[in-house]
Amino acid sequence: MISSVLPTYARAPLSFTHGEGSWLVEADGSRYLDLGAGIGVNALGHANPELAQVLSAQAGKLWHVSNLYQIPEQQALADALVAATFADTVFFTNSGTEACELAVKMARKYWFDKDQPERIEILTFEGAFHGRSSAGIAAAGAEKLTKGFGPLLPGFSQLPFGDIEAMRAAVTDKTAAVLVEPIQGEGGIRPMADADLKALRELCDETGALLILDEVQCGMGRTGRLFAHEWAGINPDIMMVAKGIGGGFPLGAVLATENAAFAMVAGTHGSTYGGNPLGCAVGAKVMEIVSDADFLAEVNRKAGLLRQKLEGLIAGHPDIFTGVRGNGLMLGLICKAPNMDVVNASYAQHVLTVPAADNVVRLLPPLTITDDEISEAVARLDAAATSLEG
Ligand SMILES: *Cc1c(COP(=O)(O)O)cnc(C)c1O
Repeated sequence: MISSVLPTYARAPLSFTHGEGSWLVEADGSRYLDLGAGIGVNALGHANPELAQVLSAQAGKLWHVSNLYQIPEQQALADALVAATFADTVFFTNSGTEACELAVKMARKYWFDKDQPERIEILTFEGAFHGRSSAGIAAAGAEKLTKGFGPLLPGFSQLPFGDIEAMRAAVTDKTAAVLVEPIQGEGGIRPMADADLKALRELCDETGALLILDEVQCGMGRTGRLFAHEWAGINPDIMMVAKGIGGGFPLGAVLATENAAFAMVAGTHGSTYGGNPLGCAVGAKVMEIVSDADFLAEVNRKAGLLRQKLEGLIAGHPDIFTGVRGNGLMLGLICKAPNMDVVNASYAQHVLTVPAADNVVRLLPPLTITDDEISEAVARLDAAATSLEG
């Protein structure tokens, strides 16, 4: 008999009643150190007191009004995002895949309104993940996402990751946009080289194609910069954000330049919940905390500490791990043992990690993780690795 919850997830037998910072707690009081953070969502930890205060204060005033009216909380968050980034304008969504939908629509409407309606082709990369909507799965293209869900939205093709010559050949004056994650998350914490991102930017500039970055997982301070593309010294035309921006409240956004957004006039797009006062009040607080230079410096310092300890872990367990990659607090342990074995052995040591493609175990801790928690986490991963060697 089918479970009352649609069984689309293979769930671990873990269930938490509450959280505190980097910890999740089960009903019997057992505590788990959370290096997954809701897959990079709980950027400021669980039940963050400042966020809880903002959320409950807003809940006592106004939860929801339609986008038919002015929403000052939404305006404030949009202003903060515009002030801190390349963007001139922001649309709020409830999730990453809805941000993908708008990014794709915006790119196609751009060319339609430039009298090139045939210019619909969007280039993406093998191993990409852009969410589970029809546009998101067509964009990623992998059979494990698309099989059985046809007919797929046309106009997407996937390039090999990190092949600059293939990019050069593929980006033409027929390309509407290129869509890429600066660091693939689901794909196995695969960073695109800064040189490749720069080359993509140049190819887009030469051909007029729009550059769309998916920073749903790698954005909002995760890599030690507010957005990951800042490391490469380039700017996109359109950017998708979600996950960390709400700190656990469902919130996403599409950021765009005035040029890229020019065709999105009144009536061309909408969302009932997107940008509602609850989400945006929380998002504004997250943004205030995460965009602070001292906060980002701390993320970088802690990322260095974690990475150094992980190098030691890998050296001590050559039959389990072969390396670590990623940036900031978005790190992937490249496994020799099956990655699910590592994730399960880590559960047994009460530390939560997340599997990814390419036999990688992802570490996406809250950005607020402490030095002591980093030491504790790596000690537990060490015990997990040892248990697999036994
Ligand atoms: C999670 C994720 C998405 C999809 O976000 P949802 O909120 O699950 O729809 C899209 N892109 C990337 C890079 C992601 O990590």
